[in-house]
Amino acid sequence: MYAKLAVCNVWCEPLNIPIKKFTDIVGKNAVYTDPADCYAYGYDNSLQQSTPEVVVFPTEHEQVQAIVQTCYEQEIPLLARGRGSSTVGGAVPIKHGVVCSFEKMHKIISFEPENRLIVVQAGIANQAVQDHVADAGFFWPPDPSSRDYATIGGNLAYNSSGPRAIKYGTPRDNTLGLKAITGDGKTLKVGVKTTKGVVGYDLTRLLIGSEGTLGIITEATLKLTALPEAKHTLALYYQDVASAAKAVSRIMAQPVIPCALEFMDTTAINMIREYSDVPMPKNAGAMLILEVDGNEQQLEHDTQAILNAAESSALFETQLAKNSAETKAIWATRKALSPALKKVAPKKINEDIVVPVSNVPALVQRLQHLSEKFGIKIVSFGHIGNGNLHVNLMYDPGHPAQDKNALPCLEAVFDLVIELEGTLSGEHGIGLSKLPYVHKELSPQVLHTMRNIKQVFDPKNILNPGKIFNL
Ligand SMILES: Cc1cc2nc3c(=O)[nH]c(=O)nc-3n(C[C@H](O)[C@H](O)[C@H](O)COP(=O)(O)OP(=O)(O)OC[C@H]3O[C@@H](n4cnc5c(N)ncnc54)[C@H](O)[C@@H]3O)c2cc1C
Repeated sequence: MYAKLAVCNVWCEPLNIPIKKFTDIVGKNAVYTDPADCYAYGYDNSLQQSTPEVVVFPTEHEQVQAIVQTCYEQEIPLLARGRGSSTVGGAVPIKHGVVCSFEKMHKIISFEPENRLIVVQAGIANQAVQDHVADAGFFWPPDPSSRDYATIGGNLAYNSSGPRAIKYGTPRDNTLGLKAITGDGKTLKVGVKTTKGVVGYDLTRLLIGSEGTLGIITEATLKLTALPEAKHTLALYYQDVASAAKAVSRIMAQPVIPCALEFMDTTAINMIREYSDVPMPKNAGAMLILEVDGNEQQLEHDTQAILNAAESSALFETQLAKNSAETKAIWATRKALSPALKKVAPKKINEDIVVPVSNVPALVQRLQHLSEKFGIKIVSFGHIGNGNLHVNLMYDPGHPAQDKNALPCLEAVFDLVIELEGTLSGEHGIGLSKLPYVHKELSPQVLHTMRNIKQVFDPKNILNPGKIFNL
């Protein structure tokens, strides 16, 4: 399907970019300057677009460093780009300038099973890391559904994760160290190669989630986890969302933690019924997908403990996958949702809010109220075990009332999240799309401190300018 791009209208003087310096660093064939070639490096999955003047394709840390130094000397905006799958405009170079693509920086530097770590260049895809370590019995826990193509650099810049985060955490919990280049072209080697370490400030965790605004990551030391022996996958169907949300609170309040706990609300289920051929039980008003992993002996006990907590008079059907085909069929419901969403409304605003698990029942109930109040269909699904819901506001810009109400409804959703002690983004980040709302969560003092940190790392504000906060 043809998707319309929103062109960012930030006007800039054409920059006096020293192309020769870049061709000297990476070679002629690794520099694009033709606008037709550069165009594709100006957009991401937010469908916003702004063409860079130059795209460079380094292969080594030293080349990236020389690129940053050149941009620093000439004050040229510079954006590190993985595969452009950001959903919030993070990879859109709104001030044009130079895009440094990590497409050619995908080497595995070392795999050290005895230290349970792997060192990789930042442009490697998440799935390539998983494939490399699986035979030795390991995995890297962060599992965004874009993992086949999204890079480790992008994952780290956004602290991206997926269903497994509930048990195994996000990149911040699974990264030991980084090699990065600050905005003035200096190399920072931060973190450790050990599972313990407390020397100085934790700059590794500061760089992770900084959306490419503090440093360009060239290498990462990733902490590996042993693959579990076995896994159970279950689908639980409830009559209504409130009962499912309460079950989530009970599941999380007992000691056994699932390795996935995903949710779909009534609207999501109805859309799957209407727009896909994936079967759904007749009375289903909410669905939980649960996974429990561990060793064979323990698994029965753990699954039963979670099912006991999930029990409710509104739970009317439980399916336990008996083989990989049945596991696939359960996840097919979740996968059917994105294509269905695309069919149902001309436009959607897709957010990834988070609230404490104890506030999930209030969140799902009050989202329904907001949907009624603003006349905007809201579809909610996602990683409910972390309190992280993908909330989709579906509307038709051709419908005057819906068009008028969409943004006020979004604002009300964010206000609700803050009232429920949550956060505006669990994994997609701020980028451009959420920039107008950051002040709802971060106090002026916190924003001031963050701007000061940015100044230390990037004194001329050349790294991904215009993201997270207006600078
Ligand atoms: C179909 C689909 C499914 C998705 N599912 C998930 C999901 O389940 N969970 C989730 O969290 N996200 C998801 N995303 C969002 C997106 O895939 C992630 O944010 C991903 O980590 C971005 O990786 P990328 O390589 O495409 O980075 P890009 O989009 O190219 O860049 C994202 C940001 O990272 C910065 N960056 C990239 N490389 C570097 C580097 N080396 N150093 C410093 N900064 C860098 C960029 O400047 C930009 O700000 C999904 C997106 C799509 C399209």
